[in-house]
Amino acid sequence: MSLVSDYDRRAHEHEALSCPRCHKTMTPGLAMLGRGLIWRKPETTGAGTFSMITQALPNTISMNIRPAYNRAWRCDACSTALVDYSKMVRVK
Ligand SMILES: [Zn+2]
Repeated sequence: MSLVSDYDRRAHEHEALSCPRCHKTMTPGLAMLGRGLIWRKPETTGAGTFSMITQALPNTISMNIRPAYNRAWRCDACSTALVDYSKMVRVK
């Protein structure tokens, strides 16, 4: 079961993260990952559909009609995105 709370836009905007790649200030936003952020270690082989689902990172699956999002940040300079999967948030 995912942890979900209401989205606190001001708190999000105050977390001014620098891009880990190019060090520019990243833009906060909300990422909807749907079936989850599927994470695969590069050395893992033979992952089918079922096993891929089991590898979704916690708190990233949202298939409800009223979707939940993950707080995220993007860097348009180098096309890098960061996702916070400590919990999911709902927007009012
Ligand atoms: Zn960057």
